[in-house]
Amino acid sequence: MTVVDQPTRPQGAKVPWGPRGTAAATFAGRLSFEHVSRRFKQTVAVDDISLELEPGETLCLLGPSGCGKTTLLRLAAGVDRPTEGRVVLDDEEIAGPGKFVPAEKRGIGLMFQDFALFPHLTILQNVAFGLRKLDRASARHEALLALKRVGLDHYADDYPHVLSGGEQQRVALARAIVPRPAVLLMDEPFSGLDQRLRDDIRAETLAVLKETRATCMLVTHDPQEAMWLADRIALMRDGKLMQLGTPDELYNHPVDIDAARFFSDFNEFDVIVKAKRAATPLGSFAVPDCDDGQKVHVMVRPQGIVVGKGRKTDGFEAYVSGVRFVGDCTIAFLSVEGYDTPITARLTGAEKVRQGQVEKFSVLPEHLLIFS
Ligand code: ADP
Ligand code: MG
Repeated sequence: MTVVDQPTRPQGAKVPWGPRGTAAATFAGRLSFEHVSRRFKQTVAVDDISLELEPGETLCLLGPSGCGKTTLLRLAAGVDRPTEGRVVLDDEEIAGPGKFVPAEKRGIGLMFQDFALFPHLTILQNVAFGLRKLDRASARHEALLALKRVGLDHYADDYPHVLSGGEQQRVALARAIVPRPAVLLMDEPFSGLDQRLRDDIRAETLAVLKETRATCMLVTHDPQEAMWLADRIALMRDGKLMQLGTPDELYNHPVDIDAARFFSDFNEFDVIVKAKRAATPLGSFAVPDCDDGQKVHVMVRPQGIVVGKGRKTDGFEAYVSGVRFVGDCTIAFLSVEGYDTPITARLTGAEKVRQGQVEKFSVLPEHLLIFS
């Protein structure tokens, strides 16, 4: 192929996706992990995880780098074996003490960082790669349909290098869904893309996932992305499952301080309870379930601090020591007399404060968390 043969288009021009609702549907699988562990010499990468994905559910594995997300995905895919426990797909053990179903026999689709497109195959051949059971004509037909869904059917006979990074991701998605897998596994599928591209691909990918109705386990280290995509989030830390729930549950009812910190920034205070209240620089909050003398940890999101008197909490007065306008909001740095901890407030565009002023602020209760 010569350079002249390549499709020419303006750099960065957007190729639209195909019509929604046209991706082929699958029979979604129920994927279960039962006390699954994976050890590597000193490291316990996955530590006794039990987890069940409902058919058709999109579950995000979320956690910091090195917490075992990829390892858990590889165990489901069949490219690695658990040291202990079982992986079950629709009542069939696919990995366990006495059993191991190889990757290609699991009916599981993969979109992994290290499973890039084959450079020496055309885009259509890449998509048709998983359809070896079909005859050539049917495989070509199915692959073209999937390519059409991601809007790239007119590149069918070109090679992957003519595509941008985002478009290669779309081809990888087409390749993953075309064998109609019962379960789709995706490892940080959007991490290599820049922000603007990512939002678009994320939305379209989610639409495709929902159309195929496949059960999907998707790895990310980005809490915003997980909340955007997931029906449920499995929060991992040090190989362990820390919390499992809807985005709302994890954001608003985190199991512990670290889980809370994973989803947002906080102003934090250690306080001794007096008369069923925790007094902080941001006001005093009722802690009806705590005893006097007990230590509590009070956390307030910067976006939970607003200008003016409170609705449900006391207000507080603060000196505005700095103001930074960052577009969507204004970050204000506050100091409260008698406390040396600097406080960060994230104010909306409509809230005006000026550096050097003393202002009244208050805390929105939905942005207040207290751990005892
Ligand atoms: P994540 O995907 O959450 O970033 P990984 O699952 O890749 O985390 O890794 C979890 C832990 O297991 C890390 O400490 C990593 O170094 C270790 N690990 C992963 N794969 C191997 C391997 N093949 N050999 C030794 N250690 C590994
Ligand atoms: Mg990983």
